[in-house]
Amino acid sequence: MKILVINAGSSSLKYQLIDMDTRSVMAKGLCERIGIDGSNLQHTCVLKALDKKTITKPMKDHGDAIQMVIDALVDSEIGVISSMDEIGAVGHRVVHGAEMFTDSTVITEAVMKALEECTPLAPLHNPPNIIGINACTKIMPDTPQVAVFDTAFHQTMPAHAYMYALPYECYEKDRIRKYGFHGTSHKYVSQKAVEILGKDAKDLKIVTCHLGNGSSISAVCGGKCIDTSMGFTPLDGVPMGTRTGSMDPAVMTFLMNKGMTAKEIDNLVNKKSGVAGVSGVSSDFRDLSAAAADGNERAALALDMFAYQVKKYIGSYAAAMGGIDAVVFTAGVGENDAATRKAIVSGLEFMGIKINDSKNETRGTVDITADGGTVKTLVIPTDEEMMIAIDTERLTK
Ligand code: ADP
Repeated sequence: MKILVINAGSSSLKYQLIDMDTRSVMAKGLCERIGIDGSNLQHTCVLKALDKKTITKPMKDHGDAIQMVIDALVDSEIGVISSMDEIGAVGHRVVHGAEMFTDSTVITEAVMKALEECTPLAPLHNPPNIIGINACTKIMPDTPQVAVFDTAFHQTMPAHAYMYALPYECYEKDRIRKYGFHGTSHKYVSQKAVEILGKDAKDLKIVTCHLGNGSSISAVCGGKCIDTSMGFTPLDGVPMGTRTGSMDPAVMTFLMNKGMTAKEIDNLVNKKSGVAGVSGVSSDFRDLSAAAADGNERAALALDMFAYQVKKYIGSYAAAMGGIDAVVFTAGVGENDAATRKAIVSGLEFMGIKINDSKNETRGTVDITADGGTVKTLVIPTDEEMMIAIDTERLTK
């Protein structure tokens, strides 16, 4: 079965065509500047190992973008299939499924209605996801489609983990609670970890650390998420590229009393803070490491703050699960930044977490546990598109 995976943003659309028989990517690409001057499609034909090809053509909306993707996929030169009918199903990334979606789901009219109802919780992200689904429905009305939510994997959290200690009406009226994000990634790497460890998922307590530009940590106990660091929005948890992560919420009212507007504060805590805000250097961990090595103290401080907070989550989630069998690192920083991994786990030897320095320098899927480490430490590259394709196949085959 061949599955088209779509991740639609407000003016962009990423796609991959995946052959599920071989679990391999046949083609992938990105439509940029949809609805803006200079729209283009960057298509890579992986199957024939061709270089990326950029096609510049006006795309007035996501419908035009999907049509261009299909045209590229069936093209005799850069394409990989002979007709659109070869696409067995389409899997869409959808950011917010609120409490309505505890798993991926086949898209129906009722599901589309429910997605609209989730939109107030993700006003920037869900609308383009919905537009992407509608565009596909128009162009391939007979192809089954599946929505895969960033929030669904976290819906197994118990109430004592997801509730905030606000008056209960805030939850009842406005659905204010912890939802968590990056669920597709946490699900994928935790399932991979179970495979690598060769045990039954129900016997494993795993902490998954998705550390990228946005970062979140999850506690996966018996194959189910029981807690995660992001909250009502992706601002919560550890410091990120430009986001504060958790802090005393009274900082916000303090700044408001000083005259800042809600919009200004939103911009400050989401776009101007995090390791970029502390260091004044960059949100990119490569730049921070280079600056710290050059003696930049604020860059070193930002890295220390990040590692310290991730370490605390590992410890607290071990406590929440009553033990820990494995720590998994994934995403841009988690997969590539050996020094940050080392800083995070140093001091956790008392829990049985010990890593081997030379294994820690290796890339790819790797077990970096040192001799004598009783908790496995694994680096597992995430693959959200493959997870979306796996769920799409499961629900449509
Ligand atoms: P996103 O959250 O946007 O999906 P990624 O998971 O791709 O982000 O992570 C991007 C981040 O990964 C970059 O901002 C950078 O900080 C970090 N990163 C990527 N490669 C390296 C590397 N070799 N060393 C350190 N950090 C890296």
